[in-house]
Amino acid sequence: MNTADYIQLEEKYSAHNYHPLPVVLCKGEGVWVEDVEGRRYLDMLSAYSALNQGHRHPRIIQTLIEQANRLTLTSRAFHTDQLGPLCQLLCEITGQEQVLLMNSGAEAVETAIKCARRWGYTKKGVPPDRAEIIVCANNFHGRTTTIISFSTEALYRDGFGPFTPGFKIIPYDNPDALEQAINKNTVAFLVEPIQGEAGIIVPRHGYLQRARVICHQHNILFILDEIQTGLGRTGRLFCYQYEDVRPDVLILGKALGGGCIPISAVLTSREIMSVFVPGNHGSTFGGNPLACAVARTAVSVILEEKLPERSSELGTYFQSRLKALNSSKVKEIRGRGLFIGVELKPEAGTAREYCEKLLRLGILAKDTHEQVIRFAPPLVITREEIDWALERIAQALA
Ligand SMILES: *Cc1c(COP(=O)(O)O)cnc(C)c1O
Repeated sequence: MNTADYIQLEEKYSAHNYHPLPVVLCKGEGVWVEDVEGRRYLDMLSAYSALNQGHRHPRIIQTLIEQANRLTLTSRAFHTDQLGPLCQLLCEITGQEQVLLMNSGAEAVETAIKCARRWGYTKKGVPPDRAEIIVCANNFHGRTTTIISFSTEALYRDGFGPFTPGFKIIPYDNPDALEQAINKNTVAFLVEPIQGEAGIIVPRHGYLQRARVICHQHNILFILDEIQTGLGRTGRLFCYQYEDVRPDVLILGKALGGGCIPISAVLTSREIMSVFVPGNHGSTFGGNPLACAVARTAVSVILEEKLPERSSELGTYFQSRLKALNSSKVKEIRGRGLFIGVELKPEAGTAREYCEKLLRLGILAKDTHEQVIRFAPPLVITREEIDWALERIAQALA
């Protein structure tokens, strides 16, 4: 079978809930992937930052195989020798006290929402069923019915109502709007430190700090969704470290699974986590020993290979070289570390067209929001590989 055959098969038998670029991948190693025709591509999407450690990192794959040969799943009806050590490690690197493990990012966001609501009722004294959570316009927190209830993207919502009440939407990067939106029933502010899916929107410096203080003053939980920005992507282990703030609740996912297994986590204090009691929340696969083992190695690779530092250094280099291209097609280049958005001028065409050009030149990148090309390669990328990519990006933007 060739590229056309595989695409045809997917077209026929898979739901059309994505519009993939026309390439059929079958192998990956580090920052490189290969298609069924034997062509090689530099992966500059990294599965939306789930592949910070690169494809098939040898240590992660070794852990996967060893744990697969030992114990894969028990459900949380029993203890395992993998859950505790992972939770301990996650607490050590975040300064949080307890962890609740789930599988997908959306499930972790749902868990944080349930946590905040129950905290509001049991600790803050909000009247039953009146809890409100404040979120930002153009947010992306996942695809469940409740999460799309507070999305501002029509495509994500159309035809999927009725929606879950209890959310208030304010503009991003606007602390005054946050302060004004708070009332006695507000239990939390849920926000991304950089809005990824919205087009790599970096808030002004001081935003997180202000939001942190406002949340504290009004006794509401400051919840950070670092599913995409966390674990080294933006040039710090966590993006909130740029402003030296600590969230009350931290949500992780994506790269926590080391690019090979879904696992997500909600981290918070012992007191806040105590809203969960046996039976009131759970997941069959959540915290399974296979995922826990992989996540522990995935995190240690990030720390030991100094991937946040790498992201910071190479991200600065990549961004400055992109700016030096001085392309007349480009409106703005922004981002932090190797989390970079190139916004095209409207008259230059859509980002999708450029991603198709880049594909033909051997680079996999993904458009986000019509005019923005996102460059977020695995953090194990080298300077030489970035130079290789820059030559081709220059060609595509010429
Ligand atoms: C990807 C993402 C999610 C959802 O994660 P899934 O694993 O796709 O459910 C939530 N929040 C942010 C910021 C994300 O980037």
